[in-house]
Amino acid sequence: MVIDSHIHLYPEELSKDPESWAKRRGEGYWLDCVAPPKSKSLQAWRRVDELLADMDAAGVDKAIILSWYWESHDTCIESQAWLLNWTKDYPDRLIGFAPFNAKGGNQALELLRIGLDSGLRGIGELNPPAQGYCYHDEILASALELASEYDASVNFHVTDPTTHDYPGKIETPFASLLDLAKKHESTRFIFAHLGGLEPMRSEEDLPDNIFYDTAACPLLYKKPLYRNFCDSIGHKKVLFGTDYPLKVFPRNPNSPDFVTALEEIRNSGLDQNELAAVCGLNAKEIFNLS
Ligand SMILES: [Zn+2]
Repeated sequence: MVIDSHIHLYPEELSKDPESWAKRRGEGYWLDCVAPPKSKSLQAWRRVDELLADMDAAGVDKAIILSWYWESHDTCIESQAWLLNWTKDYPDRLIGFAPFNAKGGNQALELLRIGLDSGLRGIGELNPPAQGYCYHDEILASALELASEYDASVNFHVTDPTTHDYPGKIETPFASLLDLAKKHESTRFIFAHLGGLEPMRSEEDLPDNIFYDTAACPLLYKKPLYRNFCDSIGHKKVLFGTDYPLKVFPRNPNSPDFVTALEEIRNSGLDQNELAAVCGLNAKEIFNLS
């Protein structure tokens, strides 16, 4: 079974005119990422039927649609409705994660409950510095406890401080993320983008409730680091993810697709057992999928 644990999806309306959509809602950070003012955009747009066709072409059984790290609670409400529609239409193929912004206060927690009660399996992708709240926010703490109550996972965007600058790059202090995982030990955390490779640099003990996805790694690193990461952190902790439909292989005319990312990870020196775990079995287990 092949599961992509980190994709994004937007309704067609957004792809037609991202600028006016974002400006009406105060989503400037998202706009800078999908339409950077000073560089070429790596964002591609796909409809849900195109997503499913791309999954079929690569043998991807299921994909986890993460929400974006919206700056406004109202956008969280709007995007939760998209996610519930897609996942209800294709329950065997698509799994959704709930949007959340702590600035929404108790209403943000209420929205989360509705999402999780309606079948969403996790929360995120979260990025507190981009969303305008702190890692030690009390509403965030309540959301993390709610995740544990529902056996839902929480995906956090993690930046590698050592990589080149790119549109939307923002610091996500690893010490703060580790602190959260230690404080909420019964909550399952997923640190995106292999946790910015910070786990390999960390001298602290890493709590057992943290997993890592591989989203956008082909874009961030010239050489695949999956072998090194699995050697140092363990293949049971790693979830295959792409960040589709971001063009993570910008020079490849087929990008965005799932085939190229799967080929890269299959040629990275992992053995068959490790590959089966990373590309699907780990996700199947932690997301409770059949
Ligand atoms: Zn991310």
